[in-house]
Amino acid sequence: MPHSPEPSPYPAAARQYHNFLQQVFPTNLAEETHSPAENSPESELELQARWFAGEFGRKFTSTDGKKIEIIQFGHWNHSAGPDFTEVAILIDGHKTTGSLEVELEASSWEAHGHGSNPEFDQVVLHVFLAQTQRTKQARFYTRTSEHREVVQLALEWESLDDWGPRPWNHLPEARLGRCSAPLQSMPSERLQSLISAAAQYRLQSKAQRLLSVAQIHGDHEALFQALAEALGFVHNRLAMRVLSQRLPLSLLLKLSDTERETYLFGAAGYIDFEHYQNSQEETTRLYLKELWQTWWQYQNRFDTSEERRLHWHLAGIRPLNHPQRRLAALLCIVNHWQQLIQTLQEGELEPELTIKKLKDYFASLQHPFWNYHYTLRSQATNKSMALVGQDRMQDILGNVLFPWLTRHSSDAWQNYTQLPGSQVNEKLRRACLRLFGSDEASIQRAKLNRRYYFQQQALLQIYNDFCLADSSECQDCPFPEQLSQW
Ligand code: SF4
Repeated sequence: MPHSPEPSPYPAAARQYHNFLQQVFPTNLAEETHSPAENSPESELELQARWFAGEFGRKFTSTDGKKIEIIQFGHWNHSAGPDFTEVAILIDGHKTTGSLEVELEASSWEAHGHGSNPEFDQVVLHVFLAQTQRTKQARFYTRTSEHREVVQLALEWESLDDWGPRPWNHLPEARLGRCSAPLQSMPSERLQSLISAAAQYRLQSKAQRLLSVAQIHGDHEALFQALAEALGFVHNRLAMRVLSQRLPLSLLLKLSDTERETYLFGAAGYIDFEHYQNSQEETTRLYLKELWQTWWQYQNRFDTSEERRLHWHLAGIRPLNHPQRRLAALLCIVNHWQQLIQTLQEGELEPELTIKKLKDYFASLQHPFWNYHYTLRSQATNKSMALVGQDRMQDILGNVLFPWLTRHSSDAWQNYTQLPGSQVNEKLRRACLRLFGSDEASIQRAKLNRRYYFQQQALLQIYNDFCLADSSECQDCPFPEQLSQW
């Protein structure tokens, strides 16, 4: 493997890139570089998951001007009733405990019949999205079946940052960008220093996101949720995130191996008669039968109504990456949780072995059924298949474990720069084309600058900060001119 370019000290370079953005967008960095979430959530479930992860913050003002502070986000409710239970909040300084309901619109409270349902009498806060122009005329009051008025909180969806990878529906044109000329004439050391700084900035942002979840739910829960999300990749990221929030690590670790497997597959909606009936072979039926023997005792604890059900996206997903196999991978990670933590800790003692040891850890995850099955409906394969493939492993290391390690190990950045690049996806391909060009020399230059994971992340960061923010076909983009300041 070729030597990676000399990395800059961390996190000084991240600050340098931050300052660079501040120079470019002097009025307000947060506003100018904030890439807002899509116009509306994918579903009510996304709103609830992002609320529970603390992405909206903890301090608010209610619709009638009261000061609200969330002390405890509580737990996802598995049964019928409000979305979250055992919540603790301060309302104008007075501590209140109870349940919390999160909905897309204020009017859903009545539309869903909560106002006449005694199960919702314990709700102390009704959370919904700020009214759109369409619904602005009507003002809804939230009342319980006992005619108690519930404090309302309206959230601004646009205040959120875009939430990780989504199916690509917005890609700037695939063509040469105006910045390619100054980038080409930039001395190599300066280009490397820019790439290193943008990569550190991105790594630090990911570490910060993990820290925000850790501050609410604890360090290990934050790591567990991030791993689940990464296993869900683009299409099933939300479902995996919600599953890991509903079945927290602390709960799963207390269960026996069989119970754990049953909870995960049952709560995901895979232990039912339909899957049993459609299974192709005796091994699968035996496997499901074993899970069912435990699940029937617990299934009533889980509300499987349409509102609560997880939706798994299968379109365009290769059988190897089927969500059932991803669940199995998550299960095996929990089964070997202490080993993962130990491997991460060992990285502090032998930093140069961090990547190898983590890859060995993922390669060692085995499951007697899932190593040989694509899905619950498929025939067994002759050859064993890895539960976490190379690409996913790479992504988990780069997007989850190294951001987590940056807070725990002083060598994390140095080791991160040794992580080889992943497969080039459409976003990265476009970033390279716009920033470097398409003639043979430019292609070689781009290849040289995306060999390592940190380089790829740097290019994606620049693409995110500038290309995605541009709507002038490069004409008004400040990046080319500002490069001389680097
Ligand atoms: S939008 Fe800016 S950063 Fe992106 S290709 Fe054009 S000039 Fe370069």
